[in-house]
Amino acid sequence: MTKKITIAIDGYSSCGKSTIAKGLAKALEYTFVDTGAMYRAVTLHMVEHGIESTDLQAVKNALKQLKITFAYNAGRGASDVLLNGKNVENEIREMRISKQVSNYAAIKEVREAMVAQQQEMGKNGGVVMDGRDIGTVVFPHAELKIFMTASPEVRTERRYKELLDKGDTISKEEVRENLAERDHIDSTREESPLRKADDARILDNSNLTMEEQLALVLGWVREV
Ligand code: C5P
Repeated sequence: MTKKITIAIDGYSSCGKSTIAKGLAKALEYTFVDTGAMYRAVTLHMVEHGIESTDLQAVKNALKQLKITFAYNAGRGASDVLLNGKNVENEIREMRISKQVSNYAAIKEVREAMVAQQQEMGKNGGVVMDGRDIGTVVFPHAELKIFMTASPEVRTERRYKELLDKGDTISKEEVRENLAERDHIDSTREESPLRKADDARILDNSNLTMEEQLALVLGWVREV
């Protein structure tokens, strides 16, 4: 049997990280962990309890009261995120959460709690994890690290279409602004800013189909 490795995928918002991570996990029979969903679930909890990201003490207290777990959803071929036992997979994708998530994700205590849980989930390998700090902080020794990028136009189009398909009424401009703002906060924050790990391979998928990306990355997996 071939060794089950750890695959870390980082990159900007809406680059298609989760799509490729999910495809890889399926092809390799690995576990896929969407770490963005965890930060989104934390944000949902805070927003629902009226806790501002600037109120550090309240955020810290609330962190003790929330539990994030995953439950496999066969229909989606991926795990849904649960917040204190409630399936919040759809809610966490709403724009009200996208607009706030980077502010909570910049908080040291929030990151420490999420990173510890992510390291536990991936400790035995056989995992594809996507996020912003996976190759740099969560699994700095991952056997394969990928840094994804795509042009802002392509990313905006993709996310806009995704939201429209879900029935969201939103303007393309609002989507473009949200992506740019999150990328800015994520890349300039003090705690674990988004950056390419020195040993990560770059995957620019602006002009690649999902099949082309998967074939490319499976080739990298074979090289490990
Ligand atoms: O991946 P997704 O776009 O759903 O992530 C939402 C937000 O969660 C990001 O914009 C970022 O602020 C935060 N995040 C993070 N570290 C991760 C994954 C996500 O800070 N590993």
